[in-house]
Amino acid sequence: MCIYSIAMKQSRLGGGCTLWTMERLFWPLLMMAWACAGTATEPKPDKLPPAGKAAGANHATPAHGGTSLNAEEVLAALKLGQERYVAGTLKHPNISAARRAETATKGQTPLATVLGCSDSRMPLEFIFDQGIGDLFVIRVAGNVADTTEIGTMEYGVGHLGTPVLIVLGHSKCGAVTAAVKGGELHGLIPALIDNIKPAAAKAKAAGGTEAEQITEAIKANVFQSIADVLKRSKLIRDKFTAGKLQIVGGVYDLEDGHVTWLGAHEADAKPH
Ligand SMILES: [Zn+2]
Repeated sequence: MCIYSIAMKQSRLGGGCTLWTMERLFWPLLMMAWACAGTATEPKPDKLPPAGKAAGANHATPAHGGTSLNAEEVLAALKLGQERYVAGTLKHPNISAARRAETATKGQTPLATVLGCSDSRMPLEFIFDQGIGDLFVIRVAGNVADTTEIGTMEYGVGHLGTPVLIVLGHSKCGAVTAAVKGGELHGLIPALIDNIKPAAAKAKAAGGTEAEQITEAIKANVFQSIADVLKRSKLIRDKFTAGKLQIVGGVYDLEDGHVTWLGAHEADAKPH
């Protein structure tokens, strides 16, 4: 029996569930649910399968049956989906009940790990015309790569063996705009914006109008997130430097739906 089900039964048996208890149970239960989402035979995140065959120039063969596509094939598929989205000719693949049942039973084998902004105007599966089980998505305001985001990316890249990691910013990003404009921020938002400040400072130092600075900061913030991931995650850094993982930055245009691909580093930030 799934440990998540056991935990839920135990929590019900306890009765009189207080807010305090619910709060204490939330994260452990979330992690258990995550573990249950895969196949019953999946190793725990702290016992990752060998990553050597997980990605790269050759067809990927993760230990528990990840995608068989290599990085180039994944990016080609996503770019084709992007073209369909821009053209308004979406196929909406892999959203059938059969696909849902298949992925629920056999586990997930996503093509790519994608870090994007939470902005409701950039629905990532639609943007790439993908369906259930196709993308391992992390969405957070300003597409920042802080501890929990990087941990989630490690799960996608290391455990699920996606051969591609995409970091996607977007035009008119409110979080980046806030970092460039400054001003008073409330609650826990300052801690979020701290991740974007280096990119905002770089863009402001380059001069130009405020609108130009925001546009540049959006691009710089994509590279900042990639740099943060590579700096803090040995797992992802090792796979990237060994050529077993392709990292790609991009900026999504809210108006025309087009993704401008930027590469992995500022130095190769040429649209292609
Ligand atoms: Zn945004």
